[in-house]
Amino acid sequence: MSTQMNTPRWLAALTVAAAMALTPLAPASAATITSVSTVLGSAVTAPANTVKTTKTTDKLNLRKGPGAQYASLTILKKGTVLNPSGKTSGKWRQVKVGKYTGWVSADYLKTTVGVAKAPAVKPIVGPNRWIDGTQPIYTKPSSASKRLMAQTGGTGVTLLKSSGKWSYVQAPTGRGWIESSSLARTKAKASGHSTTHRWTTSTANVRKGTGTSFASLGTVPANQKVAYLKTANGWSQVKTTRGTGWIKNTLLTNIEYRAPRPLQPMTKSMIKDVEKRYGKGLIGVGGSRSGSTGHGGGLAADFMIKNYSSAAGVKAGDEMAKYLIANHKKLGIGFIIWRDKLWLSYDGQWGAYSKGGWGKHLEMSRGWNVTTRHMDHIHAEIASSRALK
Ligand SMILES: [Zn+2]
Repeated sequence: MSTQMNTPRWLAALTVAAAMALTPLAPASAATITSVSTVLGSAVTAPANTVKTTKTTDKLNLRKGPGAQYASLTILKKGTVLNPSGKTSGKWRQVKVGKYTGWVSADYLKTTVGVAKAPAVKPIVGPNRWIDGTQPIYTKPSSASKRLMAQTGGTGVTLLKSSGKWSYVQAPTGRGWIESSSLARTKAKASGHSTTHRWTTSTANVRKGTGTSFASLGTVPANQKVAYLKTANGWSQVKTTRGTGWIKNTLLTNIEYRAPRPLQPMTKSMIKDVEKRYGKGLIGVGGSRSGSTGHGGGLAADFMIKNYSSAAGVKAGDEMAKYLIANHKKLGIGFIIWRDKLWLSYDGQWGAYSKGGWGKHLEMSRGWNVTTRHMDHIHAEIASSRALK
C-alpha cells in the first residue's frame, strides 16, 4: 500500500512561478518568408506555406486611376515589389507600394508563387526547463484537453514553443502542453527523491544476492538510511551496517525518512466517510507513514480493496473511486490513484499513471507490481491547500 509521490503543487506553483518570464521560441506559424511581400486582399487564397510576389517587369508609372489618362503618382523601378489590393479594372490593378496606393497596368506585372521556408528545426540538445512540482501535461494548451501525463517535480524537459500561458515541451514520456508557470529555468536542488540513498520502510534482510534464497548478512531496522549502489531483478544493492548486500525494492524508498505527521483532520473525515459507506468492501485502510510525501504528511489514505482482482472487487473499487470523485470538493481531495490510472481534481480527468510519468521514481526505486500500480488499493490524497483549512 505504498505510494511515494510529491503532493501536487501545481496550484501553488501557479502563484509562485507566475512572475517567471519564459522566453517563447518563435511559434511554428512564424515561418521565415522568402519574399518581402505578402498578398493583400488577393482573390486567390494561396495554399499554406506559399507566398505570392508581384513585381514590375519594367520602369512604370503608378497612376491615380485605372487608365493611362490618369496622372502619375510616381515612377516605379523595374523589379519593384507591389502589394495588389485585389481591386481591378480591365487590365489595370490597384496596388500598394510604399506610401502610395495607385493603379498599374497588368501588362507590366509578374506574379510568382514562392514557398515559405520551413522554420528551422532546432535539434533537441537536452532539457532547458524543469518541472516545478508534479504537473499535468495535455494534448492541447488547455486543461480541458486530454491529459497525456503528469510529470514529477524536477523532471527536465525541452521547451519547444510557447503560446500564451501554455508551453509545448518534450518530456521524458512524450510531447505536450504544460502551463508555462509550471516550468522553472533552473533545476531544483532537491527533488525529494534521492538518487544516492534509500531508506528501509520496515525491518529488512540484507542478502548476498537478488533473492530470498541467498543468505542474509543480517537485518536492518526500519527507517535506516543506506547508500544506494544499483538495482537488479527488483532488488537494490546497498551499503548497510551489515555490510554491502541486497535488499528487496519493496522494502526501500528513495524518500528521506521523516517522522510522519499524524492523519490530518480532512484525511480522518475522508476515511470515516468511506469506511461508513464502503467498509464491507475494504480489508483495511492505510494512512500516516513515512516514505511518501502524502502519507508522511498525514494527507493520504490507502483503501485496500477486498478481492481486488475479482470482478466484484474491481466494481467495489470503481464505486468507491466514483464516490470520492463526486465528493472531492467536500472531502478536499486533490488526486486519486486506482488501477494504474491517476485522477486529478485540477482537470477532473483520469489519465495514465505508471506510463504517465508521475510514477517514474517508483519505477526506479521499487519497480511496478500490484501495489505500486495501485491495482489492490485506492490512494486518495487531500490537497495540501485544503488540509490547512
Ligand atoms: Zn497510498
